Amino acid sequence: MSELNDLYQEVILDHNKNPRNFREIENADKQADGHNPLCGDQLKVYLSIEDDKVKDVAFKGSGCAISKASASMMTQAVKGKTKEEADVMFTEFRQMVMGEMDTDTEENSLGKLKIFAGVREFPARVKCASLSWHTVHAALNGEVEVSTE
Ligand code: ZN
Repeated sequence: MSELNDLYQEVILDHNKNPRNFREIENADKQADGHNPLCGDQLKVYLSIEDDKVKDVAFKGSGCAISKASASMMTQAVKGKTKEEADVMFTEFRQMVMGEMDTDTEENSLGKLKIFAGVREFPARVKCASLSWHTVHAALNGEVEVSTE
């Protein structure tokens, strides 16, 4: 468990310091604003869609290390995926951080995102970790704004 915590710390710090796809997409096909009032995290997710797939995805915003690292890894995870595949990941990610799914024993498509499983021990951080997923889910479904409350 402490090994997992070390990995978790390392990955969060890395993605917080060097967030991937941290930019705007001009003329994005879809975009949405996400807000987590509990912590003050705020981000905007941009999507380019081609042939029903996420051709490009990026985010901008400010927030705590967990929200930023999670958004960074979310963009890597959904790139190239269909809306349906991204929706499945959103559902699985939410179940994982809420402690409703054991990613070690239950089949899932989360891959590297499993390092966020530890967040379930910290209820106040669950919304930080899932904000970018709520936001990309909203954008894919044509909504422009989402709040975790
Ligand atoms: Zn936060």
